[in-house]
Amino acid sequence: MSIRLDSVSVRYEDDLAVNDLDLTIISGERFVLMGPSGSGKSTLLRAVAGLEPLETGTVEIDGKDVTTLPPHRRAVGLMFQEYALFPHLSVIDNVGYGLAMIGMGRDTARRKASALLDLAGLQGFESRKPDSLSGGERQRVALLRTLAPEPSLVMLDEPLGSLDLALREDLLAQMRTIVTELGATTLYVTHDRTEAFAFAERLAIMRHGRIVRTGTPEQVWDDPQTTFVARFIGHSNVLTGAAIGFDAPGITVPPGALALKDNGEIGVHIVESVFADGRYEIVVEVANGERLRIDSPVPLDSGLSSRITVDRSAVRELVVDEV
Ligand code: ADP
Repeated sequence: MSIRLDSVSVRYEDDLAVNDLDLTIISGERFVLMGPSGSGKSTLLRAVAGLEPLETGTVEIDGKDVTTLPPHRRAVGLMFQEYALFPHLSVIDNVGYGLAMIGMGRDTARRKASALLDLAGLQGFESRKPDSLSGGERQRVALLRTLAPEPSLVMLDEPLGSLDLALREDLLAQMRTIVTELGATTLYVTHDRTEAFAFAERLAIMRHGRIVRTGTPEQVWDDPQTTFVARFIGHSNVLTGAAIGFDAPGITVPPGALALKDNGEIGVHIVESVFADGRYEIVVEVANGERLRIDSPVPLDSGLSSRITVDRSAVRELVVDEV
């Protein structure tokens, strides 16, 4: 199912949480809305689901204007971070709940729910009650309940919540597999850039109720275009004001584009070496006080003078959109 938003605004009292926003998501796409807390991601997702009235604009699902339709007539599978399982129902009946709602017989619903539990590594959990599950297990059951009726549009708002890292990676991979196998269009909201990049086929970055950058993860990473986006997605060398010989108002320099070389063009001194992901990030300072981060397999002594080269073809110019 495709989604098309045209000039959508949502107001809470004096503030536009979503501000005149256009967006098209194509059928079957895994689309992620990312952005800092308060940027309007959840409000936008709720607007697509029909849970927030629009101040202006239209929402189309599969070419049909659904702007005034209530949520249950939009054929959307929804899962929020504050998911709630039915405490009195077993795991299998929680997963099968939506199947009964669409008229599937109990035995068929149970077989289908059981197959989904297997897929998510929850075989053997069928007759357990939600209060005997860990947070991660509950979250998986809630996800399966959302996906069981095979909605052609799935919306997930921070579905990994506050799970620990290993579980998040595992569940994220499972979600990607499940929604891809279903061929569902997925709108996924997260403030976490690692999660966003790992899940998305295409993503949008929100700020103050607007989308400030859209593209594939590779496109956005390679060319963030603004200092806000570059910093938000985790670029470590975002410099402003004619930095290291570039006359653009802002630049981002991938750590891999910098190398320590005796005959390098820029003199630096080593500030510190930080161990990260099995390598070192060497923080160096240029004469004018700018700091850069450089990847290195080995740590270097603080205070040493050195020189660096810059692969200028990897440097991207940025619009400065932050103070
Ligand atoms: P995000 O999902 O990116 O964290 P939200 O969509 O939740 O952002 O919120 C966007 C803005 O709208 C924030 O400033 C938030 O405080 C405000 N907001 C969200 N929900 C409500 C509400 N029910 N009433 C009033 N303001 C709200």
